Amino acid sequence: MMRLCYGVVEGGQWIELLLMVLFCGQSYFFSSYFWLIFGKNLFFGVMSELIPFWRLLGHDYFPLGVLMRREFGCSVWKVSVDIGCSCPNIDGTVGTGGCLFCNTSSFAPSRRFREPVVSIVEQIDVGIRQLKRRYRHAQKFIAYFQPSTNTHLELEDLERFCRLALGHRDVVGLAIGTRPDALPEEVLEMLGFLSRTAWVQLEIGLQSIHQKSLDFLNRGHDYLVFRESFRRCRRHGFRLGVHLILGIPGESREEVLATAQEMAFLQPDSIKLHHLYVVRETPLEKLWRAGEIRLTTLEEYAGLVVDFLEELPPTVVVERIAGEADALFLLAPEWTGNKHAARNAVNQEFQRRCSFQGRLWLAKKKRQLIVDS
Ligand code: SF4
Repeated sequence: MMRLCYGVVEGGQWIELLLMVLFCGQSYFFSSYFWLIFGKNLFFGVMSELIPFWRLLGHDYFPLGVLMRREFGCSVWKVSVDIGCSCPNIDGTVGTGGCLFCNTSSFAPSRRFREPVVSIVEQIDVGIRQLKRRYRHAQKFIAYFQPSTNTHLELEDLERFCRLALGHRDVVGLAIGTRPDALPEEVLEMLGFLSRTAWVQLEIGLQSIHQKSLDFLNRGHDYLVFRESFRRCRRHGFRLGVHLILGIPGESREEVLATAQEMAFLQPDSIKLHHLYVVRETPLEKLWRAGEIRLTTLEEYAGLVVDFLEELPPTVVVERIAGEADALFLLAPEWTGNKHAARNAVNQEFQRRCSFQGRLWLAKKKRQLIVDS
């Protein structure tokens, strides 16, 4: 309730005030019925920019689950699929060492256990069975081409894999993980074509806008490459997600804010935030064992996440707030993979500040409107 009040005062959002007064602050209870009765489109369009509607559902940021319910009307989960591709930063196209933190075996069971890559449909079936065991309410699924750089293969093969995944009876969409320098125009055209009839998202790993951080992480690309790829992708109509790391050694809070403000300017459809964690058999492991890097504590990281999200428009979906790693590979920090701890720390920080995603962005927008008028 307090947080809702703060949003009203800070953002001057009179509609939110009216709702709050009418329903005596029982926003969560009320909104469940509201959601069911009025359907998915009521608060979208112009309103969604000005009113963080997901706050009425009790969230401090716009989570993926809310987007999925809005888009598909049911609980939708991403099922990881390995299409067996390589990465330009490993196979010599761009570099051979890979990113500082990367061990592709830690991404997916198929790579972890050196299993032969089974068919796409088989992987989806197995993944769905596992997700349904874990989340009983899971109904539909997004096929997520996850490990490595999934646009780094022949166009015909990629298109065939995409169509196979989208043809699965329980799959309602497709997400493809890649890096910004592996996006030839013909791939974008193919994805743009698919997106006319299906939910398609490209997830681009950026990690930071700062060159010193990209160099430290051995990404093998600069920020301009990302900007150019992002601009080209936008012309094709599919959804765009961006992966970022907060807490990169040597990056200040101001530099994290600069990355957030750049994302606020670009407005991708979604972001995934990760902390820097150490997995086995990576160059980062050597630095960590030598005591040459310091990793963020959970409290520090939660502060950075909230700093970041306050600057981000309320329309950008937050798909992830911290990284995860398989226990077989994880070395540090020990809180990695504890989703509840990360979520609680972030929620507590939001509460401590009486804040929410987009609070500073909305305040700036309001000031701009006043100046313009
Ligand atoms: S671009 Fe992705 S797959 Fe390639 S080395 Fe970096 S993190 Fe690993």
